[in-house]
Amino acid sequence: MALIVQKFGGTSVGTVERIEQVAEKVKKFRDGGDDIVVVVSAMSGETNRLIDLAKQVSDQPVARELDVMVSTGEQVTIALLAMALIKRGVPAVSYTGNQVRILTDSAHTKARILQIDGQRIQRDIKAGRVVVVAGFQGVDEKGNITTLGRGGSDTTGVALAAALKADECQIYTDVDGVYTTDPRVVAKAQRLDKITFEEMLEMASLGSKVLQIRAVEFAGKYSVPLRVLHSFQEGPGTLITLDEEESMEQPIISGIAFNRDEAKLTIRGVPDTPGVAFKILGPISAANVEVDMIVQNVAHDNTTDFTFTVHRNDYNNALQVLQGIASEMGAREVIGDTDIAKVSIVGVGMRSHAGVASRMFEALAKENINIQMISTSEIKVSVVIEEKYLELAVRALHTAFELDAPAGNTAE
Ligand code: ASP
Ligand code: MG
Repeated sequence: MALIVQKFGGTSVGTVERIEQVAEKVKKFRDGGDDIVVVVSAMSGETNRLIDLAKQVSDQPVARELDVMVSTGEQVTIALLAMALIKRGVPAVSYTGNQVRILTDSAHTKARILQIDGQRIQRDIKAGRVVVVAGFQGVDEKGNITTLGRGGSDTTGVALAAALKADECQIYTDVDGVYTTDPRVVAKAQRLDKITFEEMLEMASLGSKVLQIRAVEFAGKYSVPLRVLHSFQEGPGTLITLDEEESMEQPIISGIAFNRDEAKLTIRGVPDTPGVAFKILGPISAANVEVDMIVQNVAHDNTTDFTFTVHRNDYNNALQVLQGIASEMGAREVIGDTDIAKVSIVGVGMRSHAGVASRMFEALAKENINIQMISTSEIKVSVVIEEKYLELAVRALHTAFELDAPAGNTAE
């Protein structure tokens, strides 16, 4: 008998029929002898609808009041799911974040969980009840309703699993697991049985948007085994775990992530003196622009070229700041490029294998794809290339690292 926290996202509870289906599923687990705590999101589209409503009244709604409003989405689904369970003869009880006491800080619309009081839930579990908890919301010390940021129900699920020392936190969603890459780009992408937290963080932050990144960080920190599964299809899903050993037997590379959201900026002919990086990136960071990849090169004439990438939304802002810096520093010119893409290979297997990066460069060279920037970490190699080659690059790498599904076993 295990204690499982099951989180169902917006599309999984998007209609009354689906809520009934979720109730069936929960009942099945419980009939099998497991103790179940369910965390639900608002019905799909509901949170957006509520935010729209607020915006009709005020361009910049007060964050506290916005939280009072958007938290209602989840309150509806917990009640409906509890009703659906009770109708099926399953004792169930629903709780808001406040009722459980999911204590957060007071940063409305992006609050952080400080503490969860698991006692009430434990009592219910002992009494044989399924406990249904509203995701995405909490309460601060003064009793104000808070929310955790978009997609925050994942974090609620993981935090509850940690607080209750659950055996597993299952995230039910509209995909059947984490894939080696986006199946829309590579039809031969495969579902991974297992991936480590570290790999998942690299994959998630690079655009494989299955799970809220914060939830993965949280799960890693508290060693909560996390499983991503399809809400309405049978299957083992993908287990996200600390355990690297068994992943070692898997291919060296677990997945290929990519990202079209970046833009590249270069400042040319900067005097090559101490403090240059700070002079350039200090004002960029002061303008609240986050920098991702950075490359600096030394030229022969004691000047250097300095290139970095930022989110595309920050491009214009960063360009302006950089032009100011360039004239102050007497740099030769500033150039920018938004037609870029970043492709990354990710895998803990890289730690124990040499030559992974060169295998990547070889695969790209074979396709005649020019690499503009490179960065590496212990478990990741990223390159920036021209955006129009993105799909070709991902497919070539997927094949080169032997990630392609066997024929007849593709996502399509
Ligand atoms: N309902 C919230 C949102 O749409 C939280 C969640 O779904 O995880 O962002
Ligand atoms: Mg979600």
